[in-house]
Amino acid sequence: MTMSPLSNRVKNSEDLVPGDHIYSWRKLFSYAHHGIFVGEGMVIHFTSGSILGISSSSSTPGKKTCPYIHPRCGIEQKPGSGVAVTCLACFERKGSLYRFEYGVTKIAFKLHLRGGTCTTAESDPKSEVLHRANYLLEKGGFGKYNLFRNNCEDFALYCKTGLLTIDIDKASGRSGQIADLVKMLPKKIKAKYFSHCVGLGRYGSDVGVRDDVIKVPVEDLVADNSTQDDENDHLQDNDNATQDDEK
Ligand SMILES: [Zn+2]
Repeated sequence: MTMSPLSNRVKNSEDLVPGDHIYSWRKLFSYAHHGIFVGEGMVIHFTSGSILGISSSSSTPGKKTCPYIHPRCGIEQKPGSGVAVTCLACFERKGSLYRFEYGVTKIAFKLHLRGGTCTTAESDPKSEVLHRANYLLEKGGFGKYNLFRNNCEDFALYCKTGLLTIDIDKASGRSGQIADLVKMLPKKIKAKYFSHCVGLGRYGSDVGVRDDVIKVPVEDLVADNSTQDDENDHLQDNDNATQDDEK
């Protein structure tokens, strides 16, 4: 399906395909909210909680607040997690729905007057996209929401591409929380994926061409701390053993 760069509006939600990255302009906030359409009228997205009236920090996380009485809407959110699954109507909030475009040419990318509508990066296969979104929902992982540094768009871009941006010089300001997440990854994993970024030139802040992006499997992103502690303990044991040998 080819669409002109400026006509990516989704007029009929039946045109959506599971795995689509969609967004809805919020008039009141003058910004777009992003998510991954996962089929059956549902969207998985990363939210501060207050945006959708679903509080991720309340004592009753996942409390059902859907005015459309959708059976799944808002109830699968992990306590303290910003990753939620809601119905399309709650996601759209009377706004209009758009599809984020992947694999656009550099020329098309430049034609977009407003950022956050497309990328030159290619989308991974739909099964991979759905796996990442569902996994992050299930595990409740994607760090803390920050409108400017780790937001719904970063989440959707990650689900589509597996790419994380690393804020090496802190100049871009965006995805700083992601950088924190990346810092927590075991060294071996960082070394393995960081090599993927070599040879790419910087082009604006598009993940498709940034030189500070790495591809990280969702299982590694949500690697639980106990595994990491075990590894650190193991390394420490080795250090001790070496010291003992030297004595
Ligand atoms: Zn709903």
